[in-house]
Amino acid sequence: MEEKLEVLYRYFGYSSFRRGQEELIDAQLWGRDAFGIMPTGGGKSLCYQIPALMLEGITLVVSPLISLMKDQVSALKNMGIPGAFVNSSLTQNQIRLVLQNIRLGVYKIIYVAPERLLTQGFLEAIADQNISLVAVDEAHCISQWGQDFRPGYLRIVDFLSLLPKRPVVSAFTATATYEVRKDIKEILRLREPLEIITGYDRPNLRFEVLKPKKKADALLELLAQRKGKSGIIYCSTRKDVEKVCEILRGRKLPATRYHAGLSDQERHENQEDFVYDRSRIMVATNAFGMGIDKSNVGFVIHYNMPQSLEAYYQEAGRAGRDGEPADCILLYSKSDILTAKFLIEQSGENDALTEEERQEVRKKDLIRLKSMISYCNSSHCLRAHILEYFGEQHPEACGNCSSCSSVMEEVDMTEQAKMILSGIYRIHDRLGYWVGASLVAQSLHGSKNQRIMELGLNRLSTYGIMKDVRRSQIRDLIEELERQGYLVTDPTHGAVKLTGEAREVLFQDKQVKRLVQAVQKQEEKKEENRAVQDSEALLEGLKELRIQIARRENMPLYIIFSNATLQEMARKAPVTVEELLRVSGVGKYKAERYGEAFLNLIRKHRQSS
Ligand code: ADP
Ligand code: ZN
Repeated sequence: MEEKLEVLYRYFGYSSFRRGQEELIDAQLWGRDAFGIMPTGGGKSLCYQIPALMLEGITLVVSPLISLMKDQVSALKNMGIPGAFVNSSLTQNQIRLVLQNIRLGVYKIIYVAPERLLTQGFLEAIADQNISLVAVDEAHCISQWGQDFRPGYLRIVDFLSLLPKRPVVSAFTATATYEVRKDIKEILRLREPLEIITGYDRPNLRFEVLKPKKKADALLELLAQRKGKSGIIYCSTRKDVEKVCEILRGRKLPATRYHAGLSDQERHENQEDFVYDRSRIMVATNAFGMGIDKSNVGFVIHYNMPQSLEAYYQEAGRAGRDGEPADCILLYSKSDILTAKFLIEQSGENDALTEEERQEVRKKDLIRLKSMISYCNSSHCLRAHILEYFGEQHPEACGNCSSCSSVMEEVDMTEQAKMILSGIYRIHDRLGYWVGASLVAQSLHGSKNQRIMELGLNRLSTYGIMKDVRRSQIRDLIEELERQGYLVTDPTHGAVKLTGEAREVLFQDKQVKRLVQAVQKQEEKKEENRAVQDSEALLEGLKELRIQIARRENMPLYIIFSNATLQEMARKAPVTVEELLRVSGVGKYKAERYGEAFLNLIRKHRQSS
């Protein structure tokens, strides 16, 4: 029997396993059920594809995602592995053909939608075949706890019971919550499965939170820095999707859009345009993404803050599935909180919940929202924040997020703190009650609006003492003072009050400091870039060649070679087939198929430079 490492190398072109893969593969090869819980991009498919190649007979892969099946099968074929899929996207004729081939034993791996398992045609086709493994992908779809419940998944067990011999059963998901895992094991009736949970961390993702004054400008700037890369921009509402997409198209950027308000056909077309790299940028609501197996997504930008870290991590996690460095950037503004609250209020309107249950759900949603907001305001490691939230061990600082890579500086704000605190003190002194932060800011800034005049706040000695500071900045400083415990906001009417600690600042000269981001270490970055630039020209050529091949064969780019593979190729600049095979992601079949074209290009490049 072939060694699994050999299979990994020969077909997939990789030289080592990722975390958890080897154990899960071994279990299935030895006839034991297996249950793999890995983050998106962790490499789940390989965990059943390698056993499928090594076991005798056929492997069935149950998957809910029609578009993904097609891509997976194309990818397999492109590695020299005979596979097929059976789902509702095929015509009757195509299905008949596939079923006929199954009977002839043509395929090693067959992807099948759960709804198809119990159809007569399918059952008949596999009747005489040796089914050695049934792998259930996206296994959380079997659980009603998750949002992706698919009733069809419940039929998998009925299907298994119809087989003359029970095959090995394996299940894979990225959802790690206890209830979902329990459901998967129980409902699928896994037999003492080897259960492996690899960490939630995705080291190649860089996390960043920005608080730009103008999001649209910031977005354009971010996109300009990422020319040629493929990415997703998530917005909270359809309206924002339309607006942002419009802006990008106005700048001649290759953007397309996706939200629930579009026709099925347009959604489908736009999605394909994105997957096949005809439109590099997808602007979408959270309706987009489930089942998109596009591995070369170089960035995910959130134009608005999502409602929870769960949602954020799932959406942001669609970046960098190929293992290459990728960016997850969140553009935060306070108005996002209002939108999120509004969406939470609206959600569940159509569900059959009692009023009480709905209240309960909302309460939990608001708690989740709070964690999301504190992520946006954190000055500590963002990755640590996420992993902490999911209950995972993590180092104090990751070195690969905006908090870690920006040097924080402590600056003194005692003077400003005194102005603000005494302003609040005076207002209270005059009116006999506390007022909200915006009125405080207006008074300190010296605004001349009606309310200020009516209340006589323009006659206070603190009126206008901060006229050089923008009102929004005064608001930020007020918030900072609240975080540090000098102020508290009354939850019912939003008035800000002084605390005992504020007295220490006002009357005992206590110093107040805050952390701000120091200027980034630009120089270091430039150094890094220079090293990359040397092979950049070659890389461009390789990418161009890949585009030509993809167009000719009508396949997504990443199925030919991933970006990571092309980058390594540009760096190593191999000239022989042996050298080419040493590039990660180049298997034997692909080397035979595309090797000459790529090697020729590299040889030419070497001669001319
Ligand atoms: P998942 O289904 O868990 O989201 P995939 O199976 O799509 O992830 O794998 C993500 C990417 O990682 C794919 O491009 C795949 O080829 C690559 N990959 C998987 N295993 C390895 C490995 N051992 N070495 C290098 N790359 C790998
Ligand atoms: Zn960090």
